[in-house]
Amino acid sequence: MSHVAKKQKTNNNNNMASTTLQSSNGSWVPYDSETDFPIENLPYGIFRPTADAEARVGVAIGDQVLDLSVIHTTGLFRQLGSWTNCFCKDTLNDFMGMGPKNWNAARQAITELLKAGNATLRDNTALRAKALVPQAQVTMEMPCNIGDYTDFYASREHATNVGTMFRGPENALMPNWTHLPVGYHGRASSVVISGTDIRRPRGQLQIDATDAKKGSKFGPCRLMDFELEMGMLVGPGNKLGDPLKIESADDHVFGFVLMNDWSARDIQKFEYVPLGPFTGKNVGTTISPWVVTTAALEPFKCKTSAGVQDPEPLPYLRDPDYRSYDIQLKVELENEKDVPKPVVLSRSNFKYMYWNHKQQLVHHTVTGCNMRPGDLLGSGTISGTERSMFGSMLEISWKGSNPFDCGNGISRKFLADGDRVTMSGFCQGDGYKVGFGTCEGKILPAHTD
Ligand code: CA
Repeated sequence: MSHVAKKQKTNNNNNMASTTLQSSNGSWVPYDSETDFPIENLPYGIFRPTADAEARVGVAIGDQVLDLSVIHTTGLFRQLGSWTNCFCKDTLNDFMGMGPKNWNAARQAITELLKAGNATLRDNTALRAKALVPQAQVTMEMPCNIGDYTDFYASREHATNVGTMFRGPENALMPNWTHLPVGYHGRASSVVISGTDIRRPRGQLQIDATDAKKGSKFGPCRLMDFELEMGMLVGPGNKLGDPLKIESADDHVFGFVLMNDWSARDIQKFEYVPLGPFTGKNVGTTISPWVVTTAALEPFKCKTSAGVQDPEPLPYLRDPDYRSYDIQLKVELENEKDVPKPVVLSRSNFKYMYWNHKQQLVHHTVTGCNMRPGDLLGSGTISGTERSMFGSMLEISWKGSNPFDCGNGISRKFLADGDRVTMSGFCQGDGYKVGFGTCEGKILPAHTD
């Protein structure tokens, strides 16, 4: 795989070898109620136990990774059938393409192995030492080969903010917006794993902000931005010519990751007419390494902020279970130079989706477009109703007119060189969290040659 692998950050260096294996919550693996990865979560990822080892499939549990390739090769999955050799692969694509029957069987078997009272792995010291690897020690890789990436614009709060800024409150939403999930085909090659640095891009910048006829000049982006999004990863696809149906759309959704869709606002401004986003949006898109499955998210389905859709969508988009997920999202910024301690830029929630993930997927295929396992669909920037909930600097600084106060006399309109943006998210259960880990990246200075 060509992308840059990065060390997974962890705050907890709890080491199995030196820890008493007492039951905590529902698992014999020790963790506390604040962990992102309790037994209720079990997200999948691709990891290397050591830098030179082969990449394979793992599941996060507490501050450990359960190596599923070890579980497969030692025969502990034998009751499931031979298909569990997909856990020895260096991507999740094969497993993603198998669909809910195998996903559920795997989840059940993993839950059984890890649950409090099950001695199979817990009391087998040698096997346990091989199968459980501290997250602090592993290198995370991209979870799958992303064949295609599409980005939506589906948060009403976000679309209203941006529309108000550029067209005024009367025409904030374009006439099509409440009739279909607006989106564009993105660029899969520049999707990267959390921890990858992002180079400030250079490109064509409009000389006169109010008159495009005056042309452009070449230079570094001055309006560098992040976009707080969730990324949906597709499971089994559909044949070219055969659209997906809303009733069974969930069977085609493997899970979700956090996503930062880096954006060069000034490059975007001059180039986007009339075909839409291009080089201002292919600079890099960062995703978190652990894929949280729809099974883990099921208890956290919730009403969208809209509640009901008005006007009622056309029949193919009418979702009999029109909901999103209650995922609390946070964006933090830090910079070694002038913002040494992270400041919270935003707290939003995945419920601020007007067009939910199923409607996005179904609309994407309405003309017969074929989806494939591992395809990535970005939700679009997720903004709430107030400034403290906005999902981009464009909105937080209101096009640069209202700088964000980082404290100590430091402020930001857009991102500066050296800024590290960290996204995190979780669902709050009763005494546990289903979390996503982090999605982070740092802005490097533009090339000068
Ligand atoms: Ca985006």
